[in-house]
Amino acid sequence: MKPEIPFRNPIRDKFQSAGRMDLWNDVPEKDWSNWIWQQQKRIKTLDQLEKVINLTHEEREAFKASNDLFNVAITPYYASLMDKDDPNCPIRLQSVPAPGELTIAPEDMEDPLAEEKYMPVPAVTHRYPDRVLFYTTHNCAMYCRHCTRKRKVADPDSATSNRVLDEGLAYIESHKEVRDVVISGGDVLSNSDDRVEYILSRLRAMDHIEVFRLATRNLVTLPQRITDDFVKMIRKYHPVFIHTHFNHPKECTQEAFDAVARLADAGCVINNQMVLLKGINDDAKIVKELNHKLLMMRVRPYYIFQCDMSQGISHFRTPVEKGLEIIEALRGWTSGMAVPHFVIDAPGGGGKIPLLPKYLIKHEGKEWTLRNYQGKEFVYREP
Ligand SMILES: *Cc1c(COP(=O)(O)O)cnc(C)c1O
Ligand code: SF4
Repeated sequence: MKPEIPFRNPIRDKFQSAGRMDLWNDVPEKDWSNWIWQQQKRIKTLDQLEKVINLTHEEREAFKASNDLFNVAITPYYASLMDKDDPNCPIRLQSVPAPGELTIAPEDMEDPLAEEKYMPVPAVTHRYPDRVLFYTTHNCAMYCRHCTRKRKVADPDSATSNRVLDEGLAYIESHKEVRDVVISGGDVLSNSDDRVEYILSRLRAMDHIEVFRLATRNLVTLPQRITDDFVKMIRKYHPVFIHTHFNHPKECTQEAFDAVARLADAGCVINNQMVLLKGINDDAKIVKELNHKLLMMRVRPYYIFQCDMSQGISHFRTPVEKGLEIIEALRGWTSGMAVPHFVIDAPGGGGKIPLLPKYLIKHEGKEWTLRNYQGKEFVYREP
């Protein structure tokens, strides 16, 4: 029997298209699905935003006041996921300035992870023994209001010129202990395909580099960016890992599903790094739904980050207990594949530190008293 053509995947059918806000109803499909069109038509001004959603007085004031602090840019695709009337919409909270951004809490820091202290050259943070973080651009498709790297992202002074990029590559080339490169930014996919290919081909030519990861939020904010030409190019440089950043089930659209499918079909392994955000995903039910959707898309939940101590994001911060509560609600109750690591990126540059609910009750000599996900105790005796 021949398969039905076109092949319909019942899992894909569970995902819905983002649709479009009225403003873009007449845009031809060929423009709408073109990432360059999406990028050019991003919402950057208050006037443009007013045409799409009904802003509250607070949002309007915050938009004006945050102008000099951190850029606004929202792709029409991502904007179409917003609730027009609800200021607490999780998509809106991530993309529209809120009054909380203007407050700098006393404990906030400009560079909480001391990324600059560990920068041997301007484009590289080398904190861990065998891997580096490589900043290849200061741009992103959408500027997340909770961005931990607000001090640099969107700031033209932080642009990665070709000279700075080459300095970074030279550093990686001369450090034979590096086997894993996180190619980030900003968002690595704000680079042209040619520039991404230049970076990948240079790294692939280094014998000591084993794997790299492309750190991008485009799967969430601009899935149209994953074109056939792009994945065709990527195939030449495997093993390629993709690290992305879904925060809410609403972001798991059919467009995102298709973008991930193109990458996964091309052989990429895709991981998700969620940031725990108050009012957006600080709820075990939401995280569970998100992680189930991610698995259906072939994305593996990798990290949940405690919100950093960066400036102007204190309104997003949750108590540490919240992250532990979420892990507790996942482990055992659902697939282990849907349980990411909850980590705090230590202020001052200590790196990522994992936190786990207390499953070890007691340890005496060869006797380990453990608690399972239901709270029942078990003893493991080492022979
Ligand atoms: C997160 C991070 C990495 C990658 O860490 P993994 O735990 O391997 O995912 C590497 N370098 C820096 C500076 C980082 O912040
Ligand atoms: S995509 Fe990443 S780097 Fe860019 S604004 Fe969002 S969180 Fe920041």
